[in-house]
Amino acid sequence: MYRFLTTLLFFALALPAHAWNAAGHRLVAVIAWQQLSPPVREAINIALARHPDHGRWLASARSSDAGDLFAEAATWPDDIRNDPRFYDEDHEPPTPALPGFADTARHKRWHYVDLDVTGKVQSGELDQQIERLAKLLKTSRNTEQISYALPWLLHLVGDIHQPLHVGRHGDEGGNQVEIENPFNKRLPFSSLHLYWDDLPGPPWLRGRRLDDVASHLLARYPAPEQGSVSLWRKESHDLLPATYPGKQGSLLPIISEDFHRASRDMANRRLVEAGYRLGRLLNGIFGNTMSHGTP
Ligand SMILES: [Zn+2]
Repeated sequence: MYRFLTTLLFFALALPAHAWNAAGHRLVAVIAWQQLSPPVREAINIALARHPDHGRWLASARSSDAGDLFAEAATWPDDIRNDPRFYDEDHEPPTPALPGFADTARHKRWHYVDLDVTGKVQSGELDQQIERLAKLLKTSRNTEQISYALPWLLHLVGDIHQPLHVGRHGDEGGNQVEIENPFNKRLPFSSLHLYWDDLPGPPWLRGRRLDDVASHLLARYPAPEQGSVSLWRKESHDLLPATYPGKQGSLLPIISEDFHRASRDMANRRLVEAGYRLGRLLNGIFGNTMSHGTP
């Protein structure tokens, strides 16, 4: 039995988690899409249609609806983690340049920012990259650059609302923390980070069912103040202590019913906040220039 448990733990921990799962990022996108004005939707639709992987999004969404494709684009920065066309800049040589991509790096450091107890940045570029991409999208006239930057911005605004992406320095945002989760029969042992990533729902959630979940969340949680990227970062960092379970199981910290309920509530609220803020940010970026993104 012990060997079985250690094997399970090995597999759980061998798969480092990245972010909200795909359902989380799509929910943020669906909520953001509802905030967008028709001209902004149109400008974004044109920019995404120029992205080299647009055909992949059409295939995975099984839809040509502009909102559905917007939701697919939001998971692209995670999709390239297993894509051999791209490389890990820390320990792999660059892969050949590809038409339409600014570069072929996976940019894993863009997905998180680790702060120490005093709030000082230790590693990661999540907040900086959101600022940079938003500025680039607002000022650039280069259509290739815009199409490359847009999926990144959709994704990273979701990530900064996940408290473990503004992680505790030293445990890789909960990736090195093992927990026992009696509420997941398929994966009763996992990293704390993976537990949080999967709270939004199953990763295959799309289409009508995804829209239903988004409507349910929008009815339940109010629109947040817009704030700034540093406020979003601070909120996540302040929530961080509450993301670690306090109760100890027989081997590991264990997810209790109360903790699970509170965590789901926190995750859902953060998804709604991310969705509203992303929508308003995009309205601000694309709203002023009707011709933005056209040659
Ligand atoms: Zn991410």
